[in-house]
Amino acid sequence: MHIFENIIDVKNFLKEKTDSGNSIGFVPTMGALHEGHSSLIKLANKENDITVCSIFVNPKQFNNKEDLDKYPRTLTNDINILSKLNCDVVFTPSTEEMYSEPIKENFDLGELENILEGEFRKGHFKGVAIVVKRLLDIILPDKAYFGKKDYQQLLIVKKLVKLEKMPVEIIACDTVRENDGLAMSSRNKRLNSSQRKEAATIYQTLLKVEKLCKEKTLSLENIKKRVYDDINSLSTIELEYFEILNPENLKPLESVNTGKKAIACIAVYAGSVRLIDNIIFNY
Ligand code: AMP
Repeated sequence: MHIFENIIDVKNFLKEKTDSGNSIGFVPTMGALHEGHSSLIKLANKENDITVCSIFVNPKQFNNKEDLDKYPRTLTNDINILSKLNCDVVFTPSTEEMYSEPIKENFDLGELENILEGEFRKGHFKGVAIVVKRLLDIILPDKAYFGKKDYQQLLIVKKLVKLEKMPVEIIACDTVRENDGLAMSSRNKRLNSSQRKEAATIYQTLLKVEKLCKEKTLSLENIKKRVYDDINSLSTIELEYFEILNPENLKPLESVNTGKKAIACIAVYAGSVRLIDNIIFNY
Protein backbone atom coordinates (compact mmCIF):
# COMPACT_ATOMS: atom_id res chain seq x y z
CA MET A 1 0.00 0.00 0.00
CA HIS A 2 1.35 3.43 -0.95
CA ILE A 3 0.82 6.38 1.39
CA PHE A 4 1.10 9.94 0.07
CA GLU A 5 0.89 13.26 1.88
CA ASN A 6 1.69 15.48 -1.09
CA ILE A 7 -0.59 16.25 -4.01
CA ILE A 8 2.15 16.13 -6.61
CA ASP A 9 3.31 12.67 -5.46
CA VAL A 10 -0.14 11.05 -5.52
CA LYS A 11 -0.88 12.67 -8.89
CA ASN A 12 2.36 11.38 -10.44
CA PHE A 13 1.79 7.88 -9.06
CA LEU A 14 -1.79 7.72 -10.35
CA LYS A 15 -0.90 9.23 -13.73
CA GLU A 16 1.49 6.36 -14.35
CA LYS A 17 -1.23 3.88 -13.39
CA THR A 18 -3.92 5.41 -15.62
CA ASP A 19 -1.46 5.82 -18.52
CA SER A 20 -0.99 2.07 -18.41
CA GLY A 21 -4.75 1.51 -18.58
CA ASN A 22 -5.75 1.06 -14.92
CA SER A 23 -9.11 2.31 -13.67
CA ILE A 24 -9.26 4.27 -10.41
CA GLY A 25 -11.89 3.92 -7.67
CA PHE A 26 -11.89 6.60 -4.98
CA VAL A 27 -13.27 6.62 -1.42
CA PRO A 28 -13.00 10.02 0.33
CA THR A 29 -13.15 9.80 4.15
CA MET A 30 -12.37 11.78 7.26
CA GLY A 31 -10.75 8.73 8.89
CA ALA A 32 -11.66 6.99 12.17
CA LEU A 33 -12.56 4.17 9.83
CA HIS A 34 -15.28 1.62 10.62
CA GLU A 35 -17.10 -1.11 8.71
CA GLY A 36 -19.20 1.47 6.85
CA HIS A 37 -16.03 2.85 5.27
CA SER A 38 -14.73 -0.71 4.72
CA SER A 39 -17.81 -1.58 2.67
CA LEU A 40 -17.05 1.33 0.31
CA ILE A 41 -13.40 0.25 -0.02
CA LYS A 42 -14.44 -3.35 -0.74
CA LEU A 43 -16.83 -2.23 -3.48
CA ALA A 44 -14.19 0.08 -4.98
CA ASN A 45 -11.71 -2.84 -4.97
CA LYS A 46 -14.21 -5.04 -6.78
CA GLU A 47 -15.06 -2.48 -9.47
CA ASN A 48 -11.65 -0.89 -10.21
CA ASP A 49 -7.98 -1.78 -10.79
CA ILE A 50 -6.68 0.71 -8.21
CA THR A 51 -8.45 1.82 -5.01
CA VAL A 52 -7.56 5.17 -3.47
CA CYS A 53 -8.79 6.23 -0.02
CA SER A 54 -8.27 9.76 1.25
CA ILE A 55 -8.20 10.62 4.94
CA PHE A 56 -8.68 14.32 5.52
CA VAL A 57 -10.66 16.01 8.30
CA ASN A 58 -11.85 18.98 6.28
CA PRO A 59 -12.09 22.10 8.49
CA LYS A 60 -14.17 23.92 5.86
CA GLN A 61 -17.17 21.62 6.41
CA PHE A 62 -17.34 22.02 10.20
CA ASN A 63 -19.55 24.83 11.42
CA ASN A 64 -18.84 23.92 15.05
CA LYS A 65 -15.31 24.19 16.43
CA GLU A 66 -15.91 21.67 19.23
CA ASP A 67 -17.09 19.09 16.67
CA LEU A 68 -13.93 19.67 14.61
CA ASP A 69 -11.61 19.55 17.65
CA LYS A 70 -13.24 16.41 19.02
CA TYR A 71 -13.52 14.59 15.70
CA PRO A 72 -11.70 11.24 16.29
CA ARG A 73 -8.30 10.96 14.61
CA THR A 74 -6.91 7.42 14.47
CA LEU A 75 -4.49 7.46 11.54
CA THR A 76 -2.28 4.48 12.54
CA ASN A 77 -5.30 2.26 13.04
CA ASP A 78 -6.89 3.55 9.80
CA ILE A 79 -3.75 2.67 7.84
CA ASN A 80 -3.80 -0.84 9.34
CA ILE A 81 -7.44 -1.31 8.34
CA LEU A 82 -6.80 -0.07 4.79
CA SER A 83 -3.76 -2.29 4.41
CA LYS A 84 -5.77 -5.36 5.47
CA LEU A 85 -8.48 -4.42 2.96
CA ASN A 86 -5.86 -4.31 0.15
CA CYS A 87 -6.42 -0.65 -0.53
CA ASP A 88 -3.71 0.45 -3.00
CA VAL A 89 -3.25 4.11 -2.18
CA VAL A 90 -3.90 6.25 0.92
CA PHE A 91 -3.84 10.03 0.50
CA THR A 92 -3.47 11.91 3.82
CA PRO A 93 -2.83 15.59 3.02
CA SER A 94 -2.43 18.32 5.62
CA THR A 95 -4.83 21.29 5.57
CA GLU A 96 -2.03 23.49 4.17
CA GLU A 97 -1.37 21.00 1.38
CA MET A 98 -5.05 20.93 0.43
CA TYR A 99 -5.71 24.65 0.58
CA SER A 100 -2.42 26.43 -0.14
CA GLU A 101 -3.24 27.32 -3.74
CA PRO A 102 -6.30 29.30 -4.86
CA ILE A 103 -9.21 27.01 -5.74
CA LYS A 104 -12.82 27.46 -6.77
CA GLU A 105 -14.97 28.02 -3.67
CA ASN A 106 -18.37 28.90 -5.07
CA PHE A 107 -20.79 26.41 -6.52
CA ASP A 108 -24.45 27.01 -7.25
CA LEU A 109 -25.89 24.08 -5.31
CA GLY A 110 -29.38 25.62 -5.11
CA GLU A 111 -31.96 25.01 -2.39
CA LEU A 112 -30.44 21.59 -1.55
CA GLU A 113 -27.61 23.44 0.21
CA ASN A 114 -29.90 25.24 2.65
CA ILE A 115 -32.40 22.61 3.83
CA LEU A 116 -32.09 19.88 6.52
CA GLU A 117 -28.35 19.54 7.28
CA GLY A 118 -27.74 22.84 5.47
CA GLU A 119 -30.22 24.65 7.70
CA PHE A 120 -28.71 23.35 10.95
CA ARG A 121 -25.06 23.30 9.82
CA LYS A 122 -24.63 26.62 8.02
CA GLY A 123 -21.94 26.49 5.35
CA HIS A 124 -21.47 22.73 5.75
CA PHE A 125 -22.22 21.82 2.14
CA LYS A 126 -20.14 24.70 0.78
CA GLY A 127 -17.22 23.09 2.63
CA VAL A 128 -18.16 19.63 1.36
CA ALA A 129 -18.36 20.87 -2.25
CA ILE A 130 -14.97 22.61 -2.00
CA VAL A 131 -13.18 19.53 -0.65
CA VAL A 132 -14.90 17.03 -2.96
CA LYS A 133 -14.07 19.14 -6.04
CA ARG A 134 -10.47 19.51 -4.85
CA LEU A 135 -10.07 15.78 -4.15
CA LEU A 136 -11.70 14.67 -7.42
CA ASP A 137 -9.44 17.08 -9.37
CA ILE A 138 -6.37 15.54 -7.69
CA ILE A 139 -7.31 11.84 -7.86
CA LEU A 140 -9.23 11.95 -11.19
CA PRO A 141 -11.09 8.69 -10.45
CA ASP A 142 -13.35 6.77 -12.81
CA LYS A 143 -15.73 6.05 -9.91
CA ALA A 144 -16.13 7.68 -6.49
CA TYR A 145 -18.00 6.01 -3.63
CA PHE A 146 -20.29 7.79 -1.17
CA GLY A 147 -22.54 6.42 1.59
CA LYS A 148 -26.34 6.81 1.61
CA LYS A 149 -26.04 7.45 5.35
CA ASP A 150 -25.08 11.00 4.34
CA TYR A 151 -27.89 11.09 1.81
CA GLN A 152 -28.06 14.86 1.32
CA GLN A 153 -24.29 14.93 0.82
CA LEU A 154 -24.68 12.25 -1.86
CA LEU A 155 -27.22 14.44 -3.74
CA ILE A 156 -24.94 17.49 -3.33
CA VAL A 157 -21.96 15.56 -4.75
CA LYS A 158 -24.03 14.33 -7.71
CA LYS A 159 -25.14 17.90 -8.37
CA LEU A 160 -21.58 19.25 -8.09
CA VAL A 161 -20.22 16.66 -10.53
CA LYS A 162 -22.95 17.58 -13.02
CA LEU A 163 -22.42 21.34 -12.58
CA GLU A 164 -18.65 21.07 -13.01
CA LYS A 165 -18.94 18.45 -15.77
CA MET A 166 -16.52 16.13 -13.97
CA PRO A 167 -15.98 12.79 -15.74
CA VAL A 168 -16.61 10.57 -12.71
CA GLU A 169 -19.38 8.14 -11.85
CA ILE A 170 -20.78 8.60 -8.34
CA ILE A 171 -21.65 5.28 -6.70
CA ALA A 172 -24.19 5.32 -3.82
CA CYS A 173 -23.49 2.71 -1.11
CA ASP A 174 -25.90 1.24 1.46
CA THR A 175 -25.65 2.17 5.13
CA VAL A 176 -23.80 -0.34 7.33
CA ARG A 177 -25.28 -0.70 10.82
CA GLU A 178 -24.33 -2.04 14.24
CA ASN A 179 -26.22 -5.17 15.44
CA ASP A 180 -28.85 -3.04 17.17
CA GLY A 181 -29.40 -0.94 14.03
CA LEU A 182 -27.38 2.17 14.90
CA ALA A 183 -25.77 3.47 11.71
CA MET A 184 -22.00 3.18 11.98
CA SER A 185 -20.36 6.57 12.36
CA SER A 186 -16.97 7.85 13.50
CA ARG A 187 -18.87 10.01 16.01
CA ASN A 188 -20.32 6.89 17.75
CA LYS A 189 -16.95 6.58 19.51
CA ARG A 190 -17.85 9.72 21.49
CA LEU A 191 -21.09 8.31 22.96
CA ASN A 192 -21.16 7.28 26.62
CA SER A 193 -22.84 3.97 27.51
CA SER A 194 -26.33 5.35 28.21
CA GLN A 195 -26.25 7.51 25.06
CA ARG A 196 -25.02 4.51 23.06
CA LYS A 197 -27.89 2.35 24.39
CA GLU A 198 -30.55 4.93 23.57
CA ALA A 199 -28.99 5.70 20.17
CA ALA A 200 -30.38 2.36 18.90
CA THR A 201 -33.84 4.00 19.09
CA ILE A 202 -32.95 6.23 16.12
CA TYR A 203 -33.12 3.38 13.61
CA GLN A 204 -35.99 1.65 15.43
CA THR A 205 -37.94 4.90 15.05
CA LEU A 206 -37.15 5.04 11.33
CA LEU A 207 -38.39 1.45 10.89
CA LYS A 208 -41.59 2.40 12.72
CA VAL A 209 -42.03 5.40 10.41
CA GLU A 210 -41.72 3.13 7.36
CA LYS A 211 -44.38 0.82 8.82
CA LEU A 212 -46.75 3.69 9.68
CA CYS A 213 -46.36 5.28 6.23
CA LYS A 214 -47.14 1.95 4.57
CA GLU A 215 -50.22 1.40 6.79
CA LYS A 216 -51.58 4.77 5.61
CA THR A 217 -53.78 5.24 8.68
CA LEU A 218 -52.00 8.30 10.07
CA SER A 219 -51.27 11.59 8.30
CA LEU A 220 -47.63 12.58 7.73
CA GLU A 221 -48.09 15.31 10.35
CA ASN A 222 -49.25 12.77 12.93
CA ILE A 223 -46.41 10.38 12.07
CA LYS A 224 -43.96 13.25 12.58
CA LYS A 225 -45.55 14.09 15.89
CA ARG A 226 -45.10 10.48 17.05
CA VAL A 227 -41.41 10.65 16.17
CA TYR A 228 -40.97 13.90 18.11
CA ASP A 229 -42.74 12.32 21.12
CA ASP A 230 -40.77 9.04 20.91
CA ILE A 231 -37.34 10.67 20.61
CA ASN A 232 -38.04 13.39 23.14
CA SER A 233 -39.13 10.80 25.70
CA LEU A 234 -35.53 9.51 25.77
CA SER A 235 -33.34 10.89 28.53
CA THR A 236 -30.03 11.30 26.65
CA ILE A 237 -31.18 12.10 23.11
CA GLU A 238 -32.75 15.23 21.71
CA LEU A 239 -34.32 15.58 18.28
CA GLU A 240 -32.98 18.29 15.97
CA TYR A 241 -35.08 17.57 12.90
CA PHE A 242 -37.20 14.84 11.39
CA GLU A 243 -38.69 14.99 7.89
CA ILE A 244 -40.38 12.63 5.43
CA LEU A 245 -39.39 13.71 1.91
CA ASN A 246 -39.05 12.85 -1.76
CA PRO A 247 -35.63 11.14 -2.10
CA GLU A 248 -35.08 12.56 -5.59
CA ASN A 249 -34.84 16.19 -4.42
CA LEU A 250 -35.55 16.20 -0.65
CA LYS A 251 -38.70 18.25 -1.24
CA PRO A 252 -41.81 17.54 0.91
CA LEU A 253 -44.12 14.70 -0.04
CA GLU A 254 -47.65 15.80 -0.77
CA SER A 255 -49.29 12.91 1.08
CA VAL A 256 -48.62 9.31 2.05
CA ASN A 257 -51.03 8.11 -0.63
CA THR A 258 -49.09 8.75 -3.82
CA GLY A 259 -47.40 5.33 -4.20
CA LYS A 260 -43.80 6.44 -4.66
CA LYS A 261 -40.48 6.37 -2.83
CA ALA A 262 -39.97 8.31 0.38
CA ILE A 263 -37.03 9.08 2.61
CA ALA A 264 -37.31 9.73 6.34
CA CYS A 265 -34.34 11.82 7.56
CA ILE A 266 -33.44 12.37 11.19
CA ALA A 267 -30.81 14.34 13.11
CA VAL A 268 -30.39 14.12 16.87
CA TYR A 269 -28.03 15.25 19.59
CA ALA A 270 -26.73 12.85 22.25
CA GLY A 271 -25.06 15.37 24.54
CA SER A 272 -22.78 17.30 22.18
CA VAL A 273 -22.57 14.42 19.68
CA ARG A 274 -24.64 14.95 16.57
CA LEU A 275 -25.95 11.85 14.77
CA ILE A 276 -27.88 11.54 11.51
CA ASP A 277 -29.65 8.65 9.83
CA ASN A 278 -32.28 7.97 7.18
CA ILE A 279 -34.41 5.22 5.67
CA ILE A 280 -35.66 4.99 2.08
CA PHE A 281 -38.81 3.01 1.35
CA ASN A 282 -41.66 2.50 -1.07
CA TYR A 283 -45.06 3.36 0.35
P1 AMP B 1 -16.86 10.25 6.65
O1 AMP B 1 -15.51 9.68 7.01
O2 AMP B 1 -17.83 10.25 7.77
O3 AMP B 1 -16.75 11.54 5.88
O4 AMP B 1 -17.47 9.20 5.61
C1 AMP B 1 -16.80 8.84 4.43
C2 AMP B 1 -17.77 8.12 3.53
O5 AMP B 1 -18.24 6.95 4.18
C3 AMP B 1 -19.01 8.97 3.20
O6 AMP B 1 -19.35 8.77 1.84
C4 AMP B 1 -20.05 8.40 4.14
O7 AMP B 1 -21.37 8.56 3.66
C5 AMP B 1 -19.66 6.94 4.17
N1 AMP B 1 -20.18 6.31 5.39
C6 AMP B 1 -20.11 6.78 6.66
N2 AMP B 1 -20.77 5.96 7.50
C7 AMP B 1 -21.26 4.95 6.76
C8 AMP B 1 -22.04 3.79 7.04
N3 AMP B 1 -22.44 3.50 8.29
N4 AMP B 1 -22.38 2.96 6.02
C9 AMP B 1 -21.99 3.25 4.75
N5 AMP B 1 -21.25 4.33 4.41
C10 AMP B 1 -20.90 5.17 5.39
